[in-house]
Amino acid sequence: SRPSFQNTALRERAKRVVPGGMTGHLNAALLPAGYPQFFERGQGCHLWDVDGNEYIDFMCSWGPNLLGHHHPEVEEAVRRQHAQGDCLNGPTARFVELAERFVERTAHADWALFQKNGTDATTVCLMVARAATGKRKVLVAEKAYHGADPWCTPIPVGITPEDRAHLIHYTYNDVASLEAAAQQAGNDLAAIVCSAFKHDLRVDQELPTPEFARRARELCDAAGAALIVDEVRAGLRVHAGGSWETVGVRPDLSAWSKSIANGYALAAVTGVEALRDAATRIYTTGSFWQGGVAMAAGLATLEVSQRDDVVSHIARLGQRFRDGIAAQSASHRVTVRQSGPAAMPLILFDDDASLKKGAAFTVETLRHGVYLHPCHNMFFSLAHTERDIDLALQATDSAFAVVASRYGQC
Ligand code: PMP
Repeated sequence: SRPSFQNTALRERAKRVVPGGMTGHLNAALLPAGYPQFFERGQGCHLWDVDGNEYIDFMCSWGPNLLGHHHPEVEEAVRRQHAQGDCLNGPTARFVELAERFVERTAHADWALFQKNGTDATTVCLMVARAATGKRKVLVAEKAYHGADPWCTPIPVGITPEDRAHLIHYTYNDVASLEAAAQQAGNDLAAIVCSAFKHDLRVDQELPTPEFARRARELCDAAGAALIVDEVRAGLRVHAGGSWETVGVRPDLSAWSKSIANGYALAAVTGVEALRDAATRIYTTGSFWQGGVAMAAGLATLEVSQRDDVVSHIARLGQRFRDGIAAQSASHRVTVRQSGPAAMPLILFDDDASLKKGAAFTVETLRHGVYLHPCHNMFFSLAHTERDIDLALQATDSAFAVVASRYGQC
């Protein structure tokens, strides 16, 4: 097995001075034993943990890394902006330039607001919708992740029932459940929130059906409510102009973060003209929200992602990986389900409710220097090459053999 002395020592030290040693979804304690918690460095699609183990990275920092670590053009823009200043008494010109780029490239957008994290963006969307409508109820899909604020955290500890008193749940892609939720909201409906596609933990992913997306649009139009698409995870990876362009439905508001500044802390809300006034009236801000460096990184990221057509690149490499996995699954006679867009793959094993097979599989690939996730969607970047995919497929071939020998064929 690979060295883990530094990781182990740091985890022990962290436990003493950080409650639980680590918080949230990046907590390696939630992963099978063998995953590192602490990392030293990243370059392109390669990642090194603090013990010097190298990995081909299929998580891309859980999304932010769209172009690869240290993309030269992004880093150059960052260096230039750093030399000028980052956190000043107000934003730099990058603020206006970035809002202009977002409005130009996003099909539904007439304006943009900036924040730091995805949760900021989804929360601002709800505020804009409520300010615009004067209504309270918001429809959200069961088990969908929209962030870690009291209204949306998946672990409702330290919050009150009142924090989510006005949420009504529906099932993603289930038109009847969406209609029932809208009916329950009656004339108090402020918004319907939809993930760009269904990418919940531990269950097969689903692209939105056109019927579902259209019905969400109609229900919002009928009630004067806002249709919100949460692009935090899928944004810039599914479609350059907005993920629901693929189903021909335009939202009123979209929440963006993760990929939009290639790893620098930035989030955005884009909206339609009719919501401009509400977006003007709400009060949201943060000490670091207007920082110039992340916005410079955002400008470079938007430019490179469009010029180099990241969407096509990751779709092509994702398909190469998916085809390879499907062939190996057949030859080892170990059945897996691959779901969602090929560029954001999820691999789940049949008969694996306890995730034993998924864990054995990913721990084995990790030993071969390939960082996969057993139950969360994964990510590709512009930095991945066919060679990286083929190397990763050598690791998955060994991993399928391990699963077959340990748990049998099925
Ligand atoms: N929405 C979605 C779809 C996400 O995937 C995430 C982050 N995993 C968030 C919102 C929240 O983003 P953040 O962690 O940056 O607050």
